[in-house]
Amino acid sequence: MSAKDAPPPLPEPLLVEVADSHTHLDMQSGTVEEALEKAAAVGVTTVVQVGCDVKGSRWAAETAAAHARVHAAVALHPNEAPRIVLGDPDGWSRQGAREAGGDAALDDALAEIDRLAALPHVLGVGETGLDFFRTGPEGMAAQERSFRAHIEIAKRHGKTLVIHDREAHADVLRVLDEEGAPDRTVFHCYSGDAAMAEICAAEGYYMSFAGNVTFKNAQPLRDALAVAPLDRILVETDAPFLTPAPFRGRPNAPYLVPVTVRAMAGVRGIDENAMAEALAANTARAFAY
Ligand SMILES: [Zn+2]
Ligand SMILES: [Zn+2]
Repeated sequence: MSAKDAPPPLPEPLLVEVADSHTHLDMQSGTVEEALEKAAAVGVTTVVQVGCDVKGSRWAAETAAAHARVHAAVALHPNEAPRIVLGDPDGWSRQGAREAGGDAALDDALAEIDRLAALPHVLGVGETGLDFFRTGPEGMAAQERSFRAHIEIAKRHGKTLVIHDREAHADVLRVLDEEGAPDRTVFHCYSGDAAMAEICAAEGYYMSFAGNVTFKNAQPLRDALAVAPLDRILVETDAPFLTPAPFRGRPNAPYLVPVTVRAMAGVRGIDENAMAEALAANTARAFAY
């Protein structure tokens, strides 16, 4: 293992326990138990495990049922829905090459997400939303149909909606407005600017900040964090992605949340305990646990 691939060292523990509001343990190395133990050792005692396809959503629900401090969110990722409908001949997705299944296949997959969303350990429906970075024009109709269906599922089951919004801010806000957002809606890996943060705040949406808030080129994100109400912000890893600086490019995991919490406290000009207290309370409120 080169230094570049090596897991970053354990940060100093937080004195106030927080949650990683969005992680993908099934895409990280090591066991779930190892990941939870390492995270708990630095004060990250709760995680929201997020499914991105039917298989991953089933796994999230099972893992949450088996671990008291793991909560699940279930969904078809915005890039997954078009693959189900249109197929994925190149097979670059995690499930490999796939035949086009058409609208009926998407309906079948949504029915399974609906079934999983009813389970008691499943607190969220997501990540869903729109991704105009990875999905081209041919996939947009399937993506938006899937997003609308997830909003309906979240509302019917009284679960929290977890939004993935990549280069699609205006359209995500439009669809939420048209469908009517659930009582609790979280923008995971918040990527809007300060103006959008004002809109989210006015709508009562939560904004979850990931490790990219620490990146040198992410000043607009820090500007958004600076204006977001303290009671609307969450922290997440989105691990294994988006490892915070100075470990950018190395594998991410829930135990690195303290690095991002400290950076967020710096942006807000408050001490890390005050930041951690706010984040812990907000995550519990956002996911109703
Ligand atoms: Zn995402
Ligand atoms: Zn994610």
